[in-house]
Amino acid sequence: MAFTCFYTAYKEARAAVPVTAGYDASPGIASWLRSCPAPQFIHSGNWWNIKPEKRTREVVLKRQAALVNDHTVGLMSMNVQPGNDPLYWVHGDEEGGHMQACLDNANFARDEARSMGIRAPVYCTLQPATSRNAEAWFQRAIDAGHSNLCMGVSEFLRSPGHRNEGTRRILEITRVVRQLLGKKSGFIHLSGLTSYHLLPVVAALGATSTDGSTPVQSALAYGTVFFPGTGKGMSASALWEGRASLEWDCPCSSCRSRPKEASLRALMDPVERVNHNLDTWELLVREINERVTSDPTSWYAVKKAGLPPASKRPWAIAIDLLERE
Ligand SMILES: [Zn+2]
Repeated sequence: MAFTCFYTAYKEARAAVPVTAGYDASPGIASWLRSCPAPQFIHSGNWWNIKPEKRTREVVLKRQAALVNDHTVGLMSMNVQPGNDPLYWVHGDEEGGHMQACLDNANFARDEARSMGIRAPVYCTLQPATSRNAEAWFQRAIDAGHSNLCMGVSEFLRSPGHRNEGTRRILEITRVVRQLLGKKSGFIHLSGLTSYHLLPVVAALGATSTDGSTPVQSALAYGTVFFPGTGKGMSASALWEGRASLEWDCPCSSCRSRPKEASLRALMDPVERVNHNLDTWELLVREINERVTSDPTSWYAVKKAGLPPASKRPWAIAIDLLERE
């Protein structure tokens, strides 16, 4: 099955890339989704900035259902965390009741969505903190009939001081869930992950999709332009200022037909930046599907020398996990 990355819906984007939108999408995004021909994944929202009484499973599903159209390929069930600490996965009591609440929410959403005639699958979303807990609870989800599985992972990558450990947990959990599902069956969605360096690694371990905002939000909020092939980010103004000594041989559909200076000038515009970044990510997704997932170990052996440390570290963990089988 092809690996897919769903990007935060952005109405001005030219490329018809897979998109994700929250259940609480604005009316403008909701009507744009209906006219958008790309695959769409409907998110159940971020827990930390929404009042619990406004984010009940009934409200989430009702609003998700209103966004469903012929291009919807998945609905994320409502995940809950143990309390309000974003580092719950480091500090928390992982045996807490939130895992049962997650599974109950997923069963509720699946059954209700079926009775509403929604054909897109509900992704059963659980929030384990360790691979041991993931193994126990995703097995319960599979036993309850779920084969579309999901986990929110943005909290694992949020704190710089815990990012290496968070990355390791994500990779270990992805591997354990893939082993539970079997090599070729079922789907694994990691929500809140669009790291350029991690996408090939999680795909190699068996994730089938992710969603996130990096290529869109960084372009809009920080003016960041990402280099194809390496994922290195630089601000558009720094690129423009350094243009005399800069090599710019971008294969994206915006840049490839323009001379260097015209490309770099265009990237000063936010919409152009988003389009360039989305193309950059989609080129990576194409590489993943054409070359990485069929034989990750060989791909890594060939590419290793040219990869930045931010890629090498997670790859080393992944290769170790793959070789343990
Ligand atoms: Zn480009």
